[in-house]
Amino acid sequence: MTERAFLFAHPARHSLSPAMHNAALEQLGLDGRYAARDVPPEDLGGALEGLRTSSAWGANLSIPHKEHAREHLDWVSPEAREIGAVNTVVVKDGALCGFNTDAPGFMRSLEDAGLREFNGLETLVLGAGGAARGVAHALRGAGARVSLWNRTPERARGLADEFGLEAVGDAELETRVRACGLLVNTTAVGLEEPNVSPLPDGMLPATGWVCDIVYRPLETRLLRDARAAGLTIVDGLGMLVWQGALALAMWLEAQGIAAQPDAALMRRAALEALRK
Ligand code: NAP
Repeated sequence: MTERAFLFAHPARHSLSPAMHNAALEQLGLDGRYAARDVPPEDLGGALEGLRTSSAWGANLSIPHKEHAREHLDWVSPEAREIGAVNTVVVKDGALCGFNTDAPGFMRSLEDAGLREFNGLETLVLGAGGAARGVAHALRGAGARVSLWNRTPERARGLADEFGLEAVGDAELETRVRACGLLVNTTAVGLEEPNVSPLPDGMLPATGWVCDIVYRPLETRLLRDARAAGLTIVDGLGMLVWQGALALAMWLEAQGIAAQPDAALMRRAALEALRK
């Protein structure tokens, strides 16, 4: 089997991407494997250049590369440029093309869970890092009224200004949490810490939806609290799976391979890898 697609991240261990991509490639009967590579920031240019000169289809980028890949690429999609992050590189006719599948992947995960109407939906996004950029951009594009809160308020204000959104300060956080119809955690809080929530105890929306894009553990403390309070919850694995399925579909299309990855199968494979 030939390695055709890669994850470039630093660190890259414990990634669920090889398991879910390889399950999809196997099911499609294609000569292609997906491999994770630990690429420190100073080696990103060389790793991307290596895609061009090999038989690779492309790569996914994760922390810390999404916001710095642009300078090494030949073309970046308007959406990825606006978001300010590239998570998928497609090799097309020898050119390196950058896309963002995190944003549409996030929306697909909400749609799968049954949330499909965003027009005017009061949405509070916790965090102002790379993931918040894609999430806020996608929600705003779908018509939601998006506000941002972040531990470091200047970062929330900076991103809110850039995207034309509202930043929420600590003093108004509780009121805004209670009033929103969709709350999304994009901070790293809760990652491998099953008992830690980004919100103080008891602070939850009065009704509606709570999504946590952290997927390790699958049910974070925030989601556990939200479920116990009768809110509808969406875990972060759906976003991971859909950004991967959309990336794989793009790589195959660029190669002229008429095949669609099975996102449900990819989720099962990711879930199995998560439980190992
Ligand atoms: P990032 O760019 O490093 O941003 C980290 C964010 O978390 C910032 O807003 C930061 O706030 C906040 N934060 C970190 N530690 C905190 C703490 N102790 N208390 C409060 N806030 C804290 O990272 P990222 O790329 O946005 O990723 C964020 C999380 O999303 C990670 O856990 C990642 O695994 C997850 N993620 C999931 C998916 C998916 O497919 N499900 C995709 C992308 C990312 P400050 O600005 O104050 O530092």
